[in-house]
Amino acid sequence: MMRVAQISRPKGPFEIVERKVPEPVAGTVRIRVQACGICHSDSLTKEGAFPGLQYPRVPGHEVAGVIDAVAPGVAGWQPGQRVGVGWNGGFCGYCDPCRRGEFFACVRGQITGITYDGGYGEYLIAPASAVARMPADLPPADAAPLMCAGLTTFNALRNSGARPGDVVAVLGLGGLGHLGVQYAAKMGFHTVGIARGRDKEPIARKLGASVYIDSQTQDPAAELLKLGGAKVILATATSGEAMSAVQGGVAVNGTLLIVGAAESMQVSPLALLTGCRSVKGWYSGTSIDSQDTLAFSVRTGVRSMNETYPLERVSEAYERMMSGRARFRVVLTIG
Ligand SMILES: [Zn+2]
Ligand SMILES: [Zn+2]
Repeated sequence: MMRVAQISRPKGPFEIVERKVPEPVAGTVRIRVQACGICHSDSLTKEGAFPGLQYPRVPGHEVAGVIDAVAPGVAGWQPGQRVGVGWNGGFCGYCDPCRRGEFFACVRGQITGITYDGGYGEYLIAPASAVARMPADLPPADAAPLMCAGLTTFNALRNSGARPGDVVAVLGLGGLGHLGVQYAAKMGFHTVGIARGRDKEPIARKLGASVYIDSQTQDPAAELLKLGGAKVILATATSGEAMSAVQGGVAVNGTLLIVGAAESMQVSPLALLTGCRSVKGWYSGTSIDSQDTLAFSVRTGVRSMNETYPLERVSEAYERMMSGRARFRVVLTIG
């Protein structure tokens, strides 16, 4: 038997229940979970905001653990391997987007903790295509938040078109932003942190920002233009207003790269066309991107700052994440 924290109806409470340990079906592996991050997107499962979601459902897409069983016919994975699973819960490999190499856009794509049970429990079954190798010297609670928050910022930045030495600004200094600043600095960008309030300056600098802009007392667009404009602004905040306020700081041929799920924002077409500027979104990534994220993080010392809770205290841990006061990610430790 195993324990999992499930949600059995939209807006329902977490219920710790015992279930039979599931057997891996064709194409999947079973993972013994050691840690699972609590991401804001888990509220889609908790609150019933994802269309067609079937209950009961176990949330969690920042999974770190060990493969414990492998279905017959699955190649490349063995029991005992340390692995992680992120938001991308696997892809088919044969639909048109997959055949074009756009695995993230798979039309049969699954989402961990949404289309199947995720990591808030002792075991989960995941498609082999969703699994990333976890480096030997990375503790599970360190790896877990890198599987979504880390992956999202790392993969967006490495695909942003910015080159070492370019000005790269990170808007927001929360769960995503505190990782984005570290990755930007380690990738060799001239890293600028933008957040609300002078009190965030010391932590931004400690994480690697060489310039800090307080958006409450300074005009972030004007400050970025003093540096020649930002080749990339990685927008991790969830405020459309904050995104609109920085767009004037994007350099010629630069990009406002959005990973924060704001509902809407204002864009100036004139600013875009006069400077060949772009506004672009970035999907987090697939399992090989997660694997690269973990490996890069181990080599360069990038880590999420976490508050950890045991699985039994999942309700408290979730509320802490939703409060926005956690510094900076919340992680469940399991087993
Ligand atoms: Zn997430
Ligand atoms: Zn596909």
